[in-house]
Amino acid sequence: MVKKKAKAKKVVAKKAVKKTTKKTTKKVAAKKVVAKKATKKVAKKVAKKVAKKVAKKVAKKAAPKKAPAKKIAVKKTLAKKGGDQLFDSLLELIRKTSAEIPGDIQKVILEALHREEKNTTAEYAMNIIKANIELAKKKSQPLCQDTGTILFYVSHPVGFNQTEFTKTVHKAVRKATEVGFLRQNSVDSLTGKNDSMNVGPGHPDIHFHEHKKNSVEIKLMLKGGGCENVGAQYSLPNQALGAGRDLDGVRKAILDCIVKAQGKGCGPGVLGVCIGGDRGAGYVQSKEQLLRKLDDENSVADLKKLEKDIVETANKLGIGPMGFGGKTTLLGCKIGTLNRLPASFFVSVSYMCWAYRRQGVSLKGDNSIAKWLY
Ligand code: SF4
Repeated sequence: MVKKKAKAKKVVAKKAVKKTTKKTTKKVAAKKVVAKKATKKVAKKVAKKVAKKVAKKVAKKAAPKKAPAKKIAVKKTLAKKGGDQLFDSLLELIRKTSAEIPGDIQKVILEALHREEKNTTAEYAMNIIKANIELAKKKSQPLCQDTGTILFYVSHPVGFNQTEFTKTVHKAVRKATEVGFLRQNSVDSLTGKNDSMNVGPGHPDIHFHEHKKNSVEIKLMLKGGGCENVGAQYSLPNQALGAGRDLDGVRKAILDCIVKAQGKGCGPGVLGVCIGGDRGAGYVQSKEQLLRKLDDENSVADLKKLEKDIVETANKLGIGPMGFGGKTTLLGCKIGTLNRLPASFFVSVSYMCWAYRRQGVSLKGDNSIAKWLY
Protein backbone atom coordinates (compact mmCIF):
# COMPACT_ATOMS: atom_id res chain seq x y z
CA MET A 1 0.00 0.00 0.00
CA VAL A 2 2.68 2.29 1.05
CA LYS A 3 4.57 1.38 -2.15
CA LYS A 4 1.48 2.09 -4.29
CA LYS A 5 0.99 5.49 -2.69
CA ALA A 6 4.62 6.39 -3.26
CA LYS A 7 4.36 5.39 -6.92
CA ALA A 8 1.23 7.48 -7.40
CA LYS A 9 2.98 10.44 -5.80
CA LYS A 10 5.93 9.98 -8.17
CA VAL A 11 3.62 9.93 -11.21
CA VAL A 12 1.85 13.11 -10.00
CA ALA A 13 5.19 14.72 -9.38
CA LYS A 14 6.41 13.72 -12.83
CA LYS A 15 3.30 15.13 -14.45
CA ALA A 16 3.66 18.32 -12.47
CA VAL A 17 7.27 18.61 -13.57
CA LYS A 18 6.28 17.96 -17.17
CA LYS A 19 3.53 20.59 -16.95
CA THR A 20 5.85 23.08 -15.40
CA THR A 21 8.55 22.33 -17.96
CA LYS A 22 6.08 22.69 -20.79
CA LYS A 23 4.83 25.99 -19.38
CA THR A 24 8.35 27.22 -18.85
CA THR A 25 9.40 26.15 -22.34
CA LYS A 26 6.36 27.87 -23.81
CA LYS A 27 7.12 30.99 -21.82
CA VAL A 28 10.76 30.93 -22.84
CA ALA A 29 9.80 30.35 -26.45
CA ALA A 30 7.33 33.21 -26.29
CA LYS A 31 9.98 35.36 -24.69
CA LYS A 32 12.39 34.32 -27.42
CA VAL A 33 9.90 35.30 -30.10
CA VAL A 34 9.34 38.66 -28.42
CA ALA A 35 13.04 39.12 -28.09
CA LYS A 36 13.55 38.16 -31.70
CA LYS A 37 10.89 40.60 -32.78
CA ALA A 38 12.40 43.31 -30.63
CA THR A 39 15.85 42.60 -32.01
CA LYS A 40 14.51 42.76 -35.51
CA LYS A 41 12.85 46.11 -34.81
CA VAL A 42 15.98 47.51 -33.22
CA ALA A 43 18.10 46.12 -35.99
CA LYS A 44 15.83 47.69 -38.53
CA LYS A 45 16.00 51.03 -36.77
CA VAL A 46 19.76 50.88 -36.39
CA ALA A 47 20.18 49.76 -39.97
CA LYS A 48 18.04 52.62 -41.13
CA LYS A 49 20.05 55.11 -39.11
CA VAL A 50 23.36 53.68 -40.24
CA ALA A 51 22.19 53.53 -43.81
CA LYS A 52 21.15 57.16 -43.64
CA LYS A 53 24.48 58.18 -42.20
CA VAL A 54 26.45 56.19 -44.74
CA ALA A 55 24.31 57.51 -47.56
CA LYS A 56 24.94 61.06 -46.38
CA LYS A 57 28.68 60.50 -46.22
CA VAL A 58 28.79 58.88 -49.62
CA ALA A 59 26.70 61.65 -51.06
CA LYS A 60 29.03 64.23 -49.53
CA LYS A 61 32.10 62.57 -51.01
CA ALA A 62 30.57 61.93 -54.39
CA ALA A 63 29.24 65.42 -55.00
CA PRO A 64 31.22 68.47 -53.88
CA LYS A 65 29.37 71.24 -52.07
CA LYS A 66 26.96 73.04 -54.35
CA ALA A 67 28.57 76.48 -54.34
CA PRO A 68 32.17 75.49 -55.24
CA ALA A 69 30.91 73.18 -57.95
CA LYS A 70 29.25 76.15 -59.59
CA LYS A 71 32.38 78.27 -59.22
CA ILE A 72 34.61 75.64 -60.85
CA ALA A 73 32.19 75.26 -63.71
CA VAL A 74 32.06 79.01 -64.37
CA LYS A 75 35.82 79.35 -64.09
CA LYS A 76 36.38 76.54 -66.56
CA THR A 77 33.90 78.00 -69.01
CA LEU A 78 35.48 81.43 -68.82
CA ALA A 79 38.98 80.09 -69.30
CA LYS A 80 37.86 78.11 -72.32
CA LYS A 81 35.88 81.01 -73.69
CA GLY A 82 38.78 83.46 -73.12
CA GLY A 83 41.28 81.22 -74.92
CA ASP A 84 38.98 80.55 -77.84
CA GLN A 85 37.91 84.15 -78.01
CA LEU A 86 41.49 85.39 -78.34
CA PHE A 87 42.10 82.82 -81.06
CA ASP A 88 38.94 83.97 -82.89
CA SER A 89 39.92 87.64 -82.58
CA LEU A 90 43.45 86.97 -83.86
CA LEU A 91 42.18 84.90 -86.76
CA GLU A 92 39.80 87.68 -87.77
CA LEU A 93 42.60 90.23 -87.43
CA ILE A 94 44.79 88.15 -89.77
CA ARG A 95 41.96 87.65 -92.26
CA LYS A 96 41.07 91.32 -92.41
CA THR A 97 44.70 92.45 -92.58
CA SER A 98 45.43 90.06 -95.43
CA ALA A 99 42.33 90.92 -97.47
CA GLU A 100 41.50 94.56 -96.76
CA ILE A 101 43.53 97.72 -97.17
CA PRO A 102 42.80 100.18 -94.35
CA GLY A 103 40.75 103.26 -95.22
CA ASP A 104 43.58 105.80 -94.82
CA ILE A 105 45.71 103.95 -97.40
CA GLN A 106 42.90 103.27 -99.87
CA LYS A 107 42.02 106.98 -99.78
CA VAL A 108 45.58 108.00 -100.73
CA ILE A 109 45.70 105.35 -103.51
CA LEU A 110 42.46 106.67 -105.02
CA GLU A 111 43.72 110.25 -104.85
CA ALA A 112 46.90 109.14 -106.63
CA LEU A 113 44.86 107.35 -109.32
CA HIS A 114 42.94 110.56 -110.05
CA ARG A 115 46.17 112.52 -110.32
CA GLU A 116 47.66 110.24 -112.99
CA GLU A 117 47.20 111.28 -116.61
CA LYS A 118 44.47 109.46 -118.49
CA ASN A 119 45.35 106.53 -120.74
CA THR A 120 48.89 106.19 -119.45
CA THR A 121 50.58 103.05 -118.20
CA ALA A 122 50.68 104.68 -114.78
CA GLU A 123 46.90 105.15 -114.77
CA TYR A 124 46.49 101.55 -115.98
CA ALA A 125 48.73 100.28 -113.18
CA MET A 126 46.85 102.30 -110.57
CA ASN A 127 43.51 101.03 -111.90
CA ILE A 128 44.73 97.45 -111.57
CA ILE A 129 45.78 98.16 -108.01
CA LYS A 130 42.35 99.66 -107.30
CA ALA A 131 40.53 96.67 -108.83
CA ASN A 132 42.78 94.28 -106.91
CA ILE A 133 41.94 96.00 -103.62
CA GLU A 134 38.20 95.85 -104.30
CA LEU A 135 38.24 92.21 -105.42
CA ALA A 136 40.29 91.01 -102.45
CA LYS A 137 37.92 92.72 -100.04
CA LYS A 138 34.81 91.39 -101.81
CA LYS A 139 36.12 87.82 -101.91
CA SER A 140 37.87 88.03 -98.55
CA GLN A 141 41.05 86.74 -100.18
CA PRO A 142 44.68 87.81 -99.79
CA LEU A 143 45.43 91.10 -101.48
CA CYS A 144 48.67 89.68 -102.86
CA GLN A 145 49.99 86.16 -103.32
CA ASP A 146 52.90 87.14 -101.08
CA THR A 147 51.26 87.48 -97.68
CA GLY A 148 54.53 88.73 -96.27
CA THR A 149 56.42 88.64 -93.02
CA ILE A 150 53.97 88.46 -90.13
CA LEU A 151 54.69 91.26 -87.67
CA PHE A 152 52.66 91.64 -84.49
CA TYR A 153 52.92 94.69 -82.23
CA VAL A 154 51.23 94.08 -78.91
CA SER A 155 50.66 96.78 -76.29
CA HIS A 156 49.53 95.31 -72.99
CA PRO A 157 49.05 96.16 -69.31
CA VAL A 158 51.38 95.01 -66.51
CA GLY A 159 51.07 91.30 -65.74
CA PHE A 160 50.04 90.23 -69.23
CA ASN A 161 50.95 86.62 -70.02
CA GLN A 162 53.17 86.88 -73.09
CA THR A 163 53.86 83.14 -73.21
CA GLU A 164 50.21 82.15 -73.40
CA PHE A 165 49.52 84.93 -75.88
CA THR A 166 52.35 83.76 -78.13
CA LYS A 167 50.95 80.21 -78.09
CA THR A 168 47.56 81.48 -79.24
CA VAL A 169 49.17 83.65 -81.93
CA HIS A 170 50.97 80.58 -83.29
CA LYS A 171 47.72 78.63 -83.26
CA ALA A 172 45.90 81.41 -85.10
CA VAL A 173 48.71 81.77 -87.67
CA ARG A 174 48.63 78.01 -88.34
CA LYS A 175 44.87 78.12 -88.81
CA ALA A 176 45.06 81.23 -91.02
CA THR A 177 47.63 79.44 -93.19
CA GLU A 178 45.52 76.29 -93.33
CA VAL A 179 42.42 78.19 -94.51
CA GLY A 180 44.35 80.37 -96.96
CA PHE A 181 44.37 83.81 -95.30
CA LEU A 182 48.16 83.46 -95.35
CA ARG A 183 50.43 81.81 -97.88
CA GLN A 184 52.84 79.11 -96.71
CA ASN A 185 55.54 81.70 -96.50
CA SER A 186 58.17 80.80 -93.94
CA VAL A 187 61.22 78.68 -94.78
CA ASP A 188 64.26 77.43 -92.90
CA SER A 189 67.08 79.80 -93.84
CA LEU A 190 69.68 77.05 -94.34
CA THR A 191 67.70 74.22 -95.88
CA GLY A 192 64.97 76.26 -97.56
CA LYS A 193 62.47 73.80 -96.10
CA ASN A 194 58.96 75.15 -95.72
CA ASP A 195 57.19 74.03 -92.55
CA SER A 196 54.00 75.02 -94.40
CA MET A 197 52.48 76.61 -91.30
CA ASN A 198 54.31 79.97 -91.08
CA VAL A 199 55.66 79.23 -87.61
CA GLY A 200 59.38 78.99 -86.90
CA PRO A 201 62.27 80.92 -85.38
CA GLY A 202 61.47 84.64 -85.74
CA HIS A 203 58.19 84.02 -87.51
CA PRO A 204 55.71 85.36 -86.72
CA ASP A 205 57.67 88.26 -85.27
CA ILE A 206 55.96 89.48 -82.10
CA HIS A 207 56.91 92.78 -80.44
CA PHE A 208 55.55 93.35 -76.94
CA HIS A 209 55.23 96.76 -75.32
CA GLU A 210 53.89 97.38 -71.83
CA HIS A 211 51.54 100.32 -71.50
CA LYS A 212 49.50 101.98 -68.75
CA LYS A 213 46.08 101.22 -70.20
CA ASN A 214 44.00 98.27 -69.00
CA SER A 215 43.25 97.06 -72.48
CA VAL A 216 45.32 94.99 -74.92
CA GLU A 217 45.97 96.45 -78.36
CA ILE A 218 47.28 94.27 -81.17
CA LYS A 219 48.55 95.65 -84.45
CA LEU A 220 49.48 93.41 -87.33
CA MET A 221 51.56 94.18 -90.39
CA LEU A 222 52.04 91.80 -93.31
CA LYS A 223 55.14 93.05 -95.05
CA GLY A 224 55.86 91.78 -98.53
CA GLY A 225 59.26 90.32 -99.41
CA GLY A 226 59.73 92.37 -102.58
CA CYS A 227 59.46 95.66 -100.74
CA GLU A 228 61.51 94.39 -97.81
CA ASN A 229 64.33 93.70 -100.27
CA VAL A 230 64.60 97.34 -101.26
CA GLY A 231 64.84 98.69 -97.73
CA ALA A 232 68.25 100.17 -96.94
CA GLN A 233 70.42 101.42 -94.14
CA TYR A 234 72.90 104.28 -94.47
CA SER A 235 75.73 105.15 -92.18
CA LEU A 236 76.38 108.86 -92.37
CA PRO A 237 78.48 110.63 -93.43
CA ASN A 238 78.27 109.08 -96.90
CA GLN A 239 80.80 110.57 -99.27
CA ALA A 240 79.31 109.11 -102.46
CA LEU A 241 75.99 110.79 -101.72
CA GLY A 242 77.55 113.92 -100.28
CA ALA A 243 75.42 113.24 -97.21
CA GLY A 244 76.58 114.61 -93.87
CA ARG A 245 75.28 114.03 -90.37
CA ASP A 246 72.36 116.40 -90.57
CA LEU A 247 68.80 116.51 -91.93
CA ASP A 248 70.01 117.33 -95.41
CA GLY A 249 72.22 114.24 -95.27
CA VAL A 250 69.20 112.23 -94.11
CA ARG A 251 67.18 113.59 -97.04
CA LYS A 252 69.88 112.55 -99.52
CA ALA A 253 70.02 109.05 -98.08
CA ILE A 254 66.23 108.61 -98.28
CA LEU A 255 66.04 109.85 -101.86
CA ASP A 256 68.89 107.56 -102.84
CA CYS A 257 66.92 104.63 -101.45
CA ILE A 258 63.88 105.63 -103.54
CA VAL A 259 65.91 105.91 -106.73
CA LYS A 260 67.56 102.53 -106.18
CA ALA A 261 64.16 100.90 -105.50
CA GLN A 262 62.63 102.05 -108.77
CA GLY A 263 60.89 99.29 -110.68
CA LYS A 264 61.25 96.99 -107.69
CA GLY A 265 59.37 96.71 -104.43
CA CYS A 266 55.92 97.11 -106.05
CA GLY A 267 55.48 100.86 -105.83
CA PRO A 268 53.94 103.23 -105.23
CA GLY A 269 55.27 102.73 -101.76
CA VAL A 270 55.37 104.23 -98.32
CA LEU A 271 58.60 104.77 -96.42
CA GLY A 272 59.18 104.21 -92.73
CA VAL A 273 62.41 105.90 -91.66
CA CYS A 274 64.42 105.96 -88.47
CA ILE A 275 67.20 108.42 -87.82
CA GLY A 276 69.60 107.10 -85.18
CA GLY A 277 69.61 104.04 -82.97
CA ASP A 278 71.96 101.14 -83.62
CA ARG A 279 71.55 99.08 -86.78
CA GLY A 280 69.03 96.66 -85.26
CA ALA A 281 66.92 99.18 -83.37
CA GLY A 282 66.98 101.51 -86.38
CA TYR A 283 65.32 98.96 -88.65
CA VAL A 284 62.78 97.98 -85.98
CA GLN A 285 61.83 101.63 -85.46
CA SER A 286 61.63 102.31 -89.20
CA LYS A 287 59.00 99.55 -89.48
CA GLU A 288 57.11 100.88 -86.49
CA GLN A 289 56.80 104.19 -88.33
CA LEU A 290 54.66 102.30 -90.83
CA LEU A 291 52.09 101.76 -88.07
CA ARG A 292 51.27 105.47 -88.19
CA LYS A 293 48.23 106.55 -90.18
CA LEU A 294 49.06 108.11 -93.52
CA ASP A 295 47.16 111.29 -92.68
CA ASP A 296 48.75 111.89 -89.28
CA GLU A 297 51.21 114.71 -88.73
CA ASN A 298 54.65 114.42 -87.23
CA SER A 299 54.80 116.27 -83.91
CA VAL A 300 58.38 117.39 -84.66
CA ALA A 301 58.20 120.35 -87.03
CA ASP A 302 61.47 119.56 -88.86
CA LEU A 303 60.44 115.96 -89.44
CA LYS A 304 56.95 116.97 -90.56
CA LYS A 305 58.56 119.23 -93.14
CA LEU A 306 60.98 116.54 -94.24
CA GLU A 307 58.22 113.93 -94.63
CA LYS A 308 56.25 116.25 -96.92
CA ASP A 309 59.34 117.23 -98.88
CA ILE A 310 60.37 113.60 -99.47
CA VAL A 311 56.94 112.65 -100.88
CA GLU A 312 56.76 115.69 -103.14
CA THR A 313 60.32 115.27 -104.38
CA ALA A 314 59.92 111.53 -104.97
CA ASN A 315 56.74 112.08 -106.98
CA LYS A 316 58.61 114.43 -109.30
CA LEU A 317 61.23 111.79 -110.12
CA GLY A 318 58.97 110.22 -112.75
CA ILE A 319 59.46 106.66 -111.45
CA GLY A 320 55.72 106.06 -111.03
CA PRO A 321 53.68 102.98 -110.08
CA MET A 322 55.65 99.74 -110.62
CA GLY A 323 58.34 101.92 -112.21
CA PHE A 324 56.17 102.54 -115.31
CA GLY A 325 56.63 106.29 -115.08
CA GLY A 326 54.03 108.72 -113.82
CA LYS A 327 53.27 110.99 -110.91
CA THR A 328 52.93 108.48 -108.10
CA THR A 329 56.18 107.08 -106.77
CA LEU A 330 55.47 107.50 -103.07
CA LEU A 331 52.20 107.51 -101.15
CA GLY A 332 53.74 108.62 -97.88
CA CYS A 333 56.83 108.94 -95.73
CA LYS A 334 56.99 108.63 -91.94
CA ILE A 335 60.12 109.52 -90.01
CA GLY A 336 61.04 108.91 -86.38
CA THR A 337 64.20 109.17 -84.31
CA LEU A 338 66.13 107.17 -81.74
CA ASN A 339 69.09 108.31 -79.71
CA ARG A 340 72.43 107.22 -81.16
CA LEU A 341 76.05 107.02 -80.11
CA PRO A 342 78.17 110.06 -80.98
CA ALA A 343 80.21 107.70 -83.16
CA SER A 344 77.24 106.52 -85.27
CA PHE A 345 74.58 108.09 -87.45
CA PHE A 346 72.32 105.56 -89.11
CA VAL A 347 69.40 106.23 -91.39
CA SER A 348 67.27 103.12 -91.70
CA VAL A 349 64.60 102.94 -94.39
CA SER A 350 61.83 100.36 -94.60
CA TYR A 351 59.91 100.34 -97.84
CA MET A 352 56.26 99.24 -97.89
CA CYS A 353 54.63 98.28 -101.20
CA TRP A 354 51.18 99.41 -102.37
CA ALA A 355 49.77 96.24 -100.73
CA TYR A 356 50.10 98.02 -97.41
CA ARG A 357 48.55 95.51 -95.07
CA ARG A 358 48.27 96.64 -91.52
CA GLN A 359 45.39 96.48 -89.11
CA GLY A 360 44.86 96.60 -85.41
CA VAL A 361 42.36 95.79 -82.73
CA SER A 362 41.66 96.78 -79.19
CA LEU A 363 40.37 93.87 -77.13
CA LYS A 364 37.62 93.76 -74.51
CA GLY A 365 38.16 91.98 -71.18
CA ASP A 366 36.85 88.73 -72.66
CA ASN A 367 39.29 89.06 -75.63
CA SER A 368 36.60 89.85 -78.16
CA ILE A 369 37.27 92.76 -80.50
CA ALA A 370 36.22 96.09 -78.98
CA LYS A 371 37.25 98.22 -81.95
CA TRP A 372 39.38 98.32 -85.06
CA LEU A 373 42.32 100.69 -84.93
CA TYR A 374 42.56 101.62 -88.63
S1 SF4 B 1 56.18 93.47 -102.62
FE1 SF4 B 1 54.08 93.71 -101.98
S2 SF4 B 1 52.84 93.82 -103.83
FE2 SF4 B 1 54.88 93.06 -104.38
S3 SF4 B 1 54.65 90.85 -104.39
FE3 SF4 B 1 55.39 91.43 -102.36
S4 SF4 B 1 53.58 91.75 -101.14
FE4 SF4 B 1 52.92 91.69 -103.25
